Amino acid sequence: MTSIAVRNPRTGETDYTIESADAAQIGAVIADARVAQRAWSAGGLEHRSAALLAWAEQLESCGDEIVAALSVDTARHRISAEELGAVIHFIHGFCDAAPEVLATPFRKLDAHPDVVFKVTYAPYPVVGVISPWNFPLVLSFIDAIPALVAGAAVVIKPSEVTPRFVEPLRRSIEAVPALKGIITLVTGGAETGAALVAQSDAVVFTGSVPTGQKIASAAAQAFIPAFLELGGKDAAVVLAGSDIERAATSILRSALYNSGQVCYAIERVYAHASLYDALVAELCRQASGMRRSHVAGDGGHYGPMIFDRQAATIDAQLQDAVGKGAQIVMGGNSERVNGAVWVDPTIVTEVDHTMTLMTEETFGPVVPVMRFSDDAQAEFLMNDSMFGLSGAVFGPDTHTAGDFATKMEAGGVSINDTELPRVMMFAGEKTAFKKSGMGGSRYGATSIMRYVRKRALLANEGAVPSLDKLAEISG
Ligand code: NAD
Repeated sequence: MTSIAVRNPRTGETDYTIESADAAQIGAVIADARVAQRAWSAGGLEHRSAALLAWAEQLESCGDEIVAALSVDTARHRISAEELGAVIHFIHGFCDAAPEVLATPFRKLDAHPDVVFKVTYAPYPVVGVISPWNFPLVLSFIDAIPALVAGAAVVIKPSEVTPRFVEPLRRSIEAVPALKGIITLVTGGAETGAALVAQSDAVVFTGSVPTGQKIASAAAQAFIPAFLELGGKDAAVVLAGSDIERAATSILRSALYNSGQVCYAIERVYAHASLYDALVAELCRQASGMRRSHVAGDGGHYGPMIFDRQAATIDAQLQDAVGKGAQIVMGGNSERVNGAVWVDPTIVTEVDHTMTLMTEETFGPVVPVMRFSDDAQAEFLMNDSMFGLSGAVFGPDTHTAGDFATKMEAGGVSINDTELPRVMMFAGEKTAFKKSGMGGSRYGATSIMRYVRKRALLANEGAVPSLDKLAEISG
């Protein structure tokens, strides 16, 4: 077993170590999960919901140590507490929705009145879950909970960048004996993840496009489904007549939340020429009030970068853009202070699509703003991307912005605001377009259905057709 040293994002020190599970260890974990899953599935939905709700209570009562570990992993406190709250919310939401989603009544077949049938659901025995570092807890469970409700066991490999929460989380799971072998967390990096893909019955992955492509290939070799939730380069289009102050606030909130380390962060803005200068000025005015957060509760708006290597990507994109004529009107390159790496809110103008800043994922608090002169040009620019996660359209009214939003090649479009799909969760579905993902919607209660195979049971309650039928057909 090899060890991986883990960096502390506030101090820059490598002050934590994890053991990397190898293929044999993953095989043993999966074998145990397969055994435990039989009773988990056979026990029925009520049994599964009771165990998951008992775990939710456990998370409520002793979540402090999970939040504390997660806060060290990510250098943020309030968002870590929100992550825990979100997981508890997922458990309640999916358990509430499951009876209707998984109902399997017998039905008559109109074309054959003697035949009754029902479609039953056979969960994949073991679903492998691989998650990234930007929301380590939420993204380990947003897909695991519906898989568990469906009757699968899950083996989760969180990111090696942010693994401190794993130990206290394991303790919370151990407190619910019915979950033994049903939720297992393993630690490690790419090799551990690859071993998990090779041995699971289905895999759900949240992370970057290049890793997603590797996982899709490996899943194809293993002949298992892969549900991929990948990167984004969300556009905000600000049409003529928009409320500039509102647009600037919404764009900045999305671009700066979690220091921009969010898949659905607004990473490029297209502003109509009539309001371009005013929007840039307003973005700068509002961004100038944003402050670094050095300790929990100090009133700061953003923390240091979680993964220091991300700052190098941001710097490289900014340098590429400036080399091609862009102007940084606020903020700029990263800064290392006492081991922590900071990227302050950065506004960039005179950008175009020859720059990686406008085409590749930035994952930092950077807002490049490009001018357009008519709606056709805006439509071309917003869709000129390999990504199609989500986006936003601002306009003089819901109708005008909404009309334009239907042209965006993305799975969720906020109108006169940003990040609205976040509040939808159980109410509706959305799929990632283009290279932002594959495999149906994680949103909506029906995401439970991603983790089952469908087995139709059909009964003939009338006479069986006679063998003379064969002569009728082939004679
Ligand atoms: P990453 O792709 O580098 O790693 C993600 C996970 O994959 C990690 O746990 C890593 O150990 C594992 N991994 C790496 N190589 C592997 C391999 N060959 N086989 C199996 N597992 C492997 O991503 P990251 O840097 O941790 O996260 C940031 C990325 O995640 C960004 O692109 C971001 O947009 C994306 N993301 C997407 C969503 C979404 O919902 N669409 C949400 C959050 C983050």
